[in-house]
Amino acid sequence: MTEPMAALLQQQLSKGDPQLAQLAQFLTRREEQLTRELADEEAERALALSREASSLRRLMDEMSARVDTLQHRLDELAGALGACPGCWGTDPDCRYCRGHGRPGQLPPDKVAFDQLVLPAVRTHTVLSRRSHPRQTGSET
Ligand SMILES: [Zn+2]
Repeated sequence: MTEPMAALLQQQLSKGDPQLAQLAQFLTRREEQLTRELADEEAERALALSREASSLRRLMDEMSARVDTLQHRLDELAGALGACPGCWGTDPDCRYCRGHGRPGQLPPDKVAFDQLVLPAVRTHTVLSRRSHPRQTGSET
């Protein structure tokens, strides 16, 4: 019940039965109390939702930054391996390579190759010699 309607009802009732007037007063106060409680609860819910939204926004920003970092590394590695940075040769509809950009299909980026691939190849070679000494020993 709206404030003016409650007051009007209270006025009408107070002209007649005093007990009804008292009841109307009680109901009006109770309505006001419940309205305040509801407003407080709504404010608390809005605050909680706002905090949750802020937290999700921060999480999304962190994840976006992480994806950007990983995409940059993936692009570097694709360059080092001479692969299509868009699909690595896996997408026939790729606008860069039409699915022909597997590693080794493009000239590798020398700086990225020396930085990312060469150390791994050297380590792989050393480990292969250790695990297969006779085979690698006959090569040299
Ligand atoms: Zn591609």
